[in-house]
Amino acid sequence: ESLLSIRGLSAAVEDKPILREVDLEVAQGEVHVLMGPNGAGKTTLGHIAMGDPAYEVTGGSIVFDGQDITELPTDKRSHAGLFLSFQAPVEIPGVPLSSFLRATIEGRPGMEMKNKEFRRRIRQLADELSMDPSYLDRELGVGFSGGEKKKVEMLQLLLLQPKLAILDETDSGLDVDALSVVSKGMESYRRNCDGTLLIITHNTRILEHLDVDRVHVMVRGKVVAEGDSSLIDDIDRNGFEQFGHIAEEAE
Ligand code: ADP
Ligand code: MG
Ligand code: MG
Repeated sequence: ESLLSIRGLSAAVEDKPILREVDLEVAQGEVHVLMGPNGAGKTTLGHIAMGDPAYEVTGGSIVFDGQDITELPTDKRSHAGLFLSFQAPVEIPGVPLSSFLRATIEGRPGMEMKNKEFRRRIRQLADELSMDPSYLDRELGVGFSGGEKKKVEMLQLLLLQPKLAILDETDSGLDVDALSVVSKGMESYRRNCDGTLLIITHNTRILEHLDVDRVHVMVRGKVVAEGDSSLIDDIDRNGFEQFGHIAEEAE
């Protein structure tokens, strides 16, 4: 039984088809990786899974935890236990990170906490990520680096403990410090929440410490190959060109 079941999913933006009959199944507790060249539609898939209204689903379905969520608004998907990290434009001058994190759990069933308990919780999470606790008092001001935004995302992930986290890694390089926070965040999420991961990445370095169950390769909006973790080494060596003709034949 899949936790996430995407079947025949096609989607368009402004009448331009982007995803073409995508099938993708993720079982509870597994680690999946979605790879593919730039512009393949990986980020789009993440946004559509989360219900981004910028995209039009033109066919297929998304079932999560036994519920058809294809038409569900984003907040309901989030409450159902789906999480998407994207380099959130968390730039709110005057608001400390701790208040932002407080707001992300506001109104969630089962997540009611007294302030003191909340403070203790986020300090513990910062500690787990080897982050300086003073970071929590930092203003969500303009100018967080890509790496700093990643840290915020990992704090959110561990605080929310979603059933499934889709982590969309940007292609822009993360520094060693940010890479370490991401690795620690993923490991902690796996260990403490029995978390399920769908990682969208080019950066195979962040996968080194993870046991990857399944790899999906997307080219031009189609899933053109699937396999076990050996596919990652294959792609590292031979790139995505090897799948190009498959994508074209499938059109
Ligand atoms: P990837 O994450 O694999 O690099 P994307 O999902 O970002 O690919 O993009 C896939 C294709 O869809 C690209 O051609 C991109 O330009 C297009 N696209 C994605 N989002 C939008 C949007 N909001 N408006 C117009 N085109 C978009
Ligand atoms: Mg496993
Ligand atoms: Mg992308």
